[in-house]
Amino acid sequence: MRRVADPPRHVRVVIVGSGPAGLTAALYTARADLCPLVIAGVPSGGQLMLTTEVENYPGFPDGILGPELMELFRKQAARFGAEILEENVTRVDFSNRPFSLWTGGGQHIRADTVILATGASALWLGLPSEERFRGKGVSSCATCDGFFFKGRDLVVVGGGDTAMEDALFLTKFATHVTIVHRRSTLRASRVMQDRARQNPKISFIWNSVVEEIIGDAQGVRAVRLRDVGTNEVREVPCGGVFVAIGHRPNTDILRGQIDLDGKGYVKVHEHTRTNVEGVFACGDVCDPRYRQAVSAAGSGCMAAMDAERYLQEQEPAPSPEVSADEGSPARAAALHRA
Ligand code: NAP
Repeated sequence: MRRVADPPRHVRVVIVGSGPAGLTAALYTARADLCPLVIAGVPSGGQLMLTTEVENYPGFPDGILGPELMELFRKQAARFGAEILEENVTRVDFSNRPFSLWTGGGQHIRADTVILATGASALWLGLPSEERFRGKGVSSCATCDGFFFKGRDLVVVGGGDTAMEDALFLTKFATHVTIVHRRSTLRASRVMQDRARQNPKISFIWNSVVEEIIGDAQGVRAVRLRDVGTNEVREVPCGGVFVAIGHRPNTDILRGQIDLDGKGYVKVHEHTRTNVEGVFACGDVCDPRYRQAVSAAGSGCMAAMDAERYLQEQEPAPSPEVSADEGSPARAAALHRA
């Protein structure tokens, strides 16, 4: 095992993150002979590891479990030589090339190019009772956990598209879904609002916040809500709470190193380029809009191709003795197609 005092290891490509974006970038850079090092993060695999059935990933007509899908991604990248390190990145320095990254295990890695694929995490309300019942009646993933709430009354917290989508999805299982929103107008798109409003199993409680999630050893029994206008407090009985108040990009280690937008997402231009030449980003860490496994995987492919092109641009022109196709963009393209 490498220690802090070891000299830094130098690699051509480091990929930070091991969700669909990171592992697709690993597959493509591995197949381009760039021997990528994936610093997977702990726990690894991204948000699909918290999912059960994935039914919208093309190529799996009968669906596939999220962790199983990620295992397949990982095997495919490893087959072409991607190395996967089960550690977190704790610090980066993008001010000089090669770039520097340090891991929780004490490794210092230098990389000619970096692909950021650290993803995003669900936001929570921050209540102690939410923490207590997480996984025991409180969830942030309707698609993962909805199935377990058959025949119950449920509460969804939030007013955005995710809250509408989750509420609509949960009506498949729940007897009734109450959306609790802190304002009187929704942030969700018109079409999603209309669908939720028109669904007879969905109702709304406006201008209200969850103050406490109430339950016992059997699980959640109710939520205590406070009207933010009148301060009136009331209890709404329910058998589960889904928190759908948005996501937070995993960019803490990137602050001060790279341009982030107002919400902390990595800013990209020309597809996957960041403001630091040689550093690329893909997946949810730079995508607050689509946030799908398949769109993340697609952008992982794009980042890998952009990183490869960048590395080619850095290389000196091949000497005349080098055979015509060696090291050429045509060879790289052939590798991608092969
Ligand atoms: P979002 O648009 O940021 O909405 C978050 C919602 O949660 C807002 O209504 C916000 O209230 C509320 N909220 C935030 N913090 C809260 C807190 N501490 N307590 C109570 N409520 C809180 O997030 P999102 O719904 O996850 O959507 C993210 C992006 O993905 C959006 O661009 C969305 O369009 C997209 N998306 C699209 C689809 C689709 O098209 N099918 C599905 C899902 C997501 P305020 O409104 O008062 O700020």
